[in-house]
Amino acid sequence: MTTAARILLVIGLLAWAGAFAPAAIGHDQGLAIAAAQDAPVCKKCQSAGRLPCTEHEREICALEDAVLYCSVIADCPVCHGVGFIPCPDCQNAPVRAKIEEKIASIAARKVALAYIDTTMGRSIRKAESQHFVLVWEMDRLKVEKKWIESHELLHLYLKRLEALYTDYCARMQITDKEFVEKFRVFVWQLPQDHADAGLRFCRQSAKGGVKLMGQTPSYSVCGNKQNFQDDEKLHRNIVHSVTHLILSAQRPVAWIGNIKAGWLDEGLAHFFEDRYWSICDTYCFQEANTNVDFKGGKFRLAVRKMVDEGKTPPIAEVFEQNVDTLTLPMHAVSFSYVECLLNKDPAKFNDLVKKLKAKVPTRDALKQAFGFSVMDFENQWKSWVLQTYPTK
Ligand SMILES: [Zn+2]
Ligand SMILES: [Zn+2]
Ligand SMILES: [Zn+2]
Ligand SMILES: [Zn+2]
Repeated sequence: MTTAARILLVIGLLAWAGAFAPAAIGHDQGLAIAAAQDAPVCKKCQSAGRLPCTEHEREICALEDAVLYCSVIADCPVCHGVGFIPCPDCQNAPVRAKIEEKIASIAARKVALAYIDTTMGRSIRKAESQHFVLVWEMDRLKVEKKWIESHELLHLYLKRLEALYTDYCARMQITDKEFVEKFRVFVWQLPQDHADAGLRFCRQSAKGGVKLMGQTPSYSVCGNKQNFQDDEKLHRNIVHSVTHLILSAQRPVAWIGNIKAGWLDEGLAHFFEDRYWSICDTYCFQEANTNVDFKGGKFRLAVRKMVDEGKTPPIAEVFEQNVDTLTLPMHAVSFSYVECLLNKDPAKFNDLVKKLKAKVPTRDALKQAFGFSVMDFENQWKSWVLQTYPTK
């Protein structure tokens, strides 16, 4: 019974008592009101109807609410992976039903994700959220000056992935309808695990991160100190790489990076790096340790300077490259083209993406989606850069 229903019942009883026993009403009414105030509050759970599982820290239990499945606590004999148990001191049917539902769903997801353990030959730390499956085999990391253990990192990175997805959809003005499958992200501590997983889940192997674009969008990366100096660098790499996955998985499913639209593929991935850090330093070369750097990753400054000095790469050439043939200055202007077009009109930008996926050359796709020629665009873009980008 809800609190409101209880109060209504008490009021009803009082009215009934008032009608039939006027002499006793003062005393009875006092008791009944006291009961109405006390009854709904369960001291044990503050009427939440559930308690954090005794087997884990309170803060960890709270994290479990955000995920559909977490392998770290999935086998807990007390909460069965939920992180919470029904309160033994009160009866809250909706909360109990929710817990039962999640227990069943956790059991199903455990079976559905077992292929990851089988493929790697051991049990693997992983979690699933609304749009992602994340494998997290990394040890602890320092995040903003605080050491965070692997289980909490699993939750943190899943939260970061969901935040990126939400932001991507908001910037592009699209919804879940554009996507069919969940994204899989694998982050390994050991190079050998990454080598194996790359081949097994992404059908390729390299020292740096590897992606499976389009269907079953997947990214595998070795996240240890040899490859990424700190949490921020790793996070930025994942933002960049997963942006590629999202773009390729967006309907119609296709990867534009190898059909001469490398500029938009890399440009959009850099756009999200710049959005959160004002630094773009992720390049999708297969070797992680090439230490590629273009102007300290400060693309706006670099682009402004190129425009000022009349040294921008020829736009017609940029629009002909695949991701692996873009030069560093081309990466920087590609980022800026994307930012300029996305700022102008996200709906038209999406239209452009669809046309590029259908292999329409950029020159024609730009005309069809935005209505301007390459030369028109270049002029508009240059004046926009001069008006909005910093000089230092
Ligand atoms: Zn309770
Ligand atoms: Zn967990
Ligand atoms: Zn538990
Ligand atoms: Zn890239």
